[in-house]
Amino acid sequence: PAKTMDELVSLCKRRGFIFQGSEIYGGMQGAYDYGPLGTELKNNLKNAWWRAMVYERDDVEGLDAAIIQNKHVYKYSGHEDTFTDPMVDCHECKSRMRADHMKDIKKCDNCGSDNVTEPRDFNLMFKTNVGPMVNEDSYTYLRPETAQGIFTNFKNVVDSTSRALPFGIAQIGKSFRNEITPRNFIFRVREFEQMELEFFCKPGEDEKWHDFWVETRKQWWLDQGLTEENIQFEYVTGDDLAHYSKSTVDILYKFPHGFEELEGVANRTDYDLGSHTKAQEEFDLSAKVKKNEHSTAKLAVRDLEANKWEVPFCIEPSAGLDRGMLAIMTEAYTEEELENGSTRTVLKFKPHLAPIKVAILPLKKNKPEIVALAKELKNKLQKLGLGRILYENTGNVGKGYRRHDEVGTPLCVTVDFDSIEKDDAPVTVRDRDTMEQVAIPAAELPAYIINYFVN
Ligand code: ATP
Repeated sequence: PAKTMDELVSLCKRRGFIFQGSEIYGGMQGAYDYGPLGTELKNNLKNAWWRAMVYERDDVEGLDAAIIQNKHVYKYSGHEDTFTDPMVDCHECKSRMRADHMKDIKKCDNCGSDNVTEPRDFNLMFKTNVGPMVNEDSYTYLRPETAQGIFTNFKNVVDSTSRALPFGIAQIGKSFRNEITPRNFIFRVREFEQMELEFFCKPGEDEKWHDFWVETRKQWWLDQGLTEENIQFEYVTGDDLAHYSKSTVDILYKFPHGFEELEGVANRTDYDLGSHTKAQEEFDLSAKVKKNEHSTAKLAVRDLEANKWEVPFCIEPSAGLDRGMLAIMTEAYTEEELENGSTRTVLKFKPHLAPIKVAILPLKKNKPEIVALAKELKNKLQKLGLGRILYENTGNVGKGYRRHDEVGTPLCVTVDFDSIEKDDAPVTVRDRDTMEQVAIPAAELPAYIINYFVN
């Protein structure tokens, strides 16, 4: 794994995974742009999540809600009142910082001075104006989590899919938080993506489902290539527990800057649906909620056995996509000493996450038959639907191997003179991790590739 953030940052920029946002204007703090390979990796990670959370289960539906929502969403969700971080100002160096680590020792992060203010609450939501008129009512916020769009669509999804408990709604999308101190590359940023599941169940079954999701989510991260020794659970207690949560387990990963939260799995009880439902007084809510004077929908399901309407409990596994990418890149980063004394850098991504699945490298740049066969193979493999297959005609295979090791391409296929001589003549397939090369008849290449990626 990567030992320092610097080596990752530099590889990400050099090879086109991640760039500083607005770089040509001096940058924009807490915002990063995903380059050609970062975009592929991100899409692959999202697809892996969607496959595991929606397609491979039959009790979860997908959703893609709007980012800008009615401001009442944030009034009743509790974000307007409580979505804050403690902030401290330093009198000496005039910097401002997030102070949640300052419980006992109050010292400036920047200059070390203890001449700092008492912490005060800073709301992390970006406020924005909607419509051509600007007045005191024309505001809303950019969503700070995707979850609220799921709660507000609860009735729509139940009515349109005839779901009964337990079932979940999954969503992937951008969220925005005006972090006081964005830092550690894409770990803490102001614009990021979340992959969230809200899983609704009967009260009383919530603890069982909470345990289930903690284990299921950990296993998913292992399936993405993270290793057991770099993952920890943190049982969130006391002051750190969100006001809506009965219990939360954070899944931590050993990032280059230390063990930190990758995903949170919270038991949110009936707080969210109970907050957003109309006719709250008809239910025996376990959570303490604000009186709702605006909602027009009953966010409840009919319990046929007890013959009454009930607000479900909700378990939420909420993962950061950007943090996920950082974890996966950290884990995949490998520097290897080769027999000839040189070192090679390899990103050992799981094949399903690799930004480029196969690179096809003609051995000779200007030999028409070689080029034609290489292009034909590219088109054939591309049609398999595995992801990006790259035809790359630079004529320098050695350099190509090195570059594809560094960006984590699992297989490189070279086409040479042998390949064009007979009908069943071989192409060479080189494995990123073992660097071994095997000869495969060109006609059998698609089957070989499918077998490699699908099994
Ligand atoms: P932290 O304590 O690190 O600020 P959080 O507990 O506020 O995180 P949640 O509200 O539980 O985070 O959000 C769920 C997930 O969304 C987190 O586990 C993380 O992966 C991701 N996330 C939250 N804030 C950010 C951010 N500023 N930048 C990148 N990812 C984030």
